[in-house]
Amino acid sequence: MTAAVALAQAPLVERPVAELVEEAVAFHGHLCPGQVLGVRMAVTGCREVGIPLPRQAGKGLVVFVEIDRCATDAIQALTGVSLGKRTLKHLDYGKMAATFVNVPRGAAVRVSARDDARVRALAYAPGEADARRAQIVAYRLMPETALLSIEPVVVNPGWLDRRRGRVFCEECGEGINYQRELTAGGRILCRPCGGQGYYSAHPSDRR
Ligand SMILES: [Zn+2]
Ligand SMILES: [Zn+2]
Repeated sequence: MTAAVALAQAPLVERPVAELVEEAVAFHGHLCPGQVLGVRMAVTGCREVGIPLPRQAGKGLVVFVEIDRCATDAIQALTGVSLGKRTLKHLDYGKMAATFVNVPRGAAVRVSARDDARVRALAYAPGEADARRAQIVAYRLMPETALLSIEPVVVNPGWLDRRRGRVFCEECGEGINYQRELTAGGRILCRPCGGQGYYSAHPSDRR
């Protein structure tokens, strides 16, 4: 079943959300619970910080996502934020949550999916035996308060800075931009050399 057919067969929903889901699916490549959830998160987050959707954000919106899952693509598709523009920040916390920041206004709100939303979803899609399908239907219909937790936050200093600066790691010699270096034992180190890396040298590399 194509995404378009699946959308057409879904129950009547508020049109703007359906359109936003369609836009997210076009970017992401398939219809899944994450697309609907990401749309709801983006709608709520952008509204809370006063930025219209979709893609009218222009400059000024920064989104911190806490998971690399389907919903992140929906947020990116609708808001236009991206890693390359430094307006999308990925923090690998493993949580279905995102913080929307209106930088000029200094307003930030963290939106997270409620843990009980998966179970509650079943009540909003009666007769839908498949849990995934039920979530796709239900996440469009569920009241915001049943689906999401919303908390105003303040982004900690340093996370939004665009200060330039380039130093060299005293261990591996590679350049480090944007003040992402560490200082350990009086030496300037990159994160991998400072023990915070995601990779290690391959055992066969004897250079
Ligand atoms: Zn997906
Ligand atoms: Zn290094």
